[in-house]
Amino acid sequence: MNILVMNCGSSSLKYQLINMDKEEVLAKGICERIGIDDSRLKQTSLDGNKVIVNGDMPDHTHAVQYVIDALTSKEHGVINSMSEINAVGHRIVHGGEEFSGSVLINDDVIEAVKKCSDLAPLHNPANLIGIAACEKLIPNIPMVGVFDTAFHQTMPKKAYLYGLPYDYYEKHKLRRYGFHGTSHKYVANRTAEMLGRDIKDMKIVVCHLGNGASICAVDRGVSVDTSMGLTPLEGLIMGTRSGDVDPAIIQFLANKENMSISEVMDVLNKKSGVLGLSNLSSDFRDLENAVDEENEQAKLTMDVFCYRVAKYVGSYAAAMNGIDAVAFTAGLGENNHHVRRDVCSYLTYLGVSVDQEKNKCREIERDFSNPDAKVKSLVIPTDEELMIAKETLKIVRA
Ligand code: AMP
Repeated sequence: MNILVMNCGSSSLKYQLINMDKEEVLAKGICERIGIDDSRLKQTSLDGNKVIVNGDMPDHTHAVQYVIDALTSKEHGVINSMSEINAVGHRIVHGGEEFSGSVLINDDVIEAVKKCSDLAPLHNPANLIGIAACEKLIPNIPMVGVFDTAFHQTMPKKAYLYGLPYDYYEKHKLRRYGFHGTSHKYVANRTAEMLGRDIKDMKIVVCHLGNGASICAVDRGVSVDTSMGLTPLEGLIMGTRSGDVDPAIIQFLANKENMSISEVMDVLNKKSGVLGLSNLSSDFRDLENAVDEENEQAKLTMDVFCYRVAKYVGSYAAAMNGIDAVAFTAGLGENNHHVRRDVCSYLTYLGVSVDQEKNKCREIERDFSNPDAKVKSLVIPTDEELMIAKETLKIVRA
């Protein structure tokens, strides 16, 4: 069974074709600059063959056609025809309170996702366009929606309510939702598997540290709290996002800098975080190079970032009354051993104890704790696409 995993953004479409019998990625790629000029598709296949196709992609339907052509191409394709695609799994960012798991996509689901677009105006419409494009070009095969928010629907009310008038929750569903759920679920499950333990007996904190970053408290396999909220702006300091700030800052900045609310929100979303603090870059690789050259601002930015991560882990240890493991994932969590070292250095009181030599690794699964550590520390490369494909397979089989 081959499953096509689709992740549609406003001007991009990432995809993977996965053979589920072997859990093997036959090909993966991206269509970039959809609806802009210079659109192109880049694809890498299982045998390492790479191809770039420049083309005209005025919309996602055209992009999906390029994906089908690339996958079935005589020169660089990996399947003979579209009939070898058995199902499509779509990443959908916001499922609101409607979706606590993955679902077979039908008209009712599409309507419900549309209704959630208020909560994710940049993402959900793009996801829906991708679904419509596949319906048109790859008709009559099952499509499954896998939601970033679904895993966090198990959060108790005490974790998802804001300290705001309750009316707003009832009227507008204004509450914390959380994101990166597919990644948190995958990494929590792998953590238990790697430690040879039953997830139902474990309390795990997953640190998804990428350009977007969030932390999740996973108690016996279910999410009980997470750092992102109504939108992916809340929580940790991220590449360009501020994470938690005093909400009064919005008015303060608007007055002092003579900005509108949308301009302030633009600062919080796109000019803050690691980029804003360092005044250098949103990418930790640049920051690390600057730290090596003794750039004090870069060092300070790393400190602020790691301190915030450590505070969240501590708060989740409180929320779950202890933890058994901390797992690091995503671009930074998988690659940057300095960040892992610095975060873990705050957590020795909990029983975290790190073997610094084992910690010096990149993009591999590893338990880097000392053998006697009460709380285990792990690196686990996330695999959201495989998780989406597994969810798709589960729903299609059911
Ligand atoms: P993601 O959003 O998960 O792709 O993560 C992106 C971030 O991860 C980048 O901004 C970098 O800060 C960091 N990152 C990715 N790859 C590396 C690497 N090889 N070494 C260090 N940091 C990395």
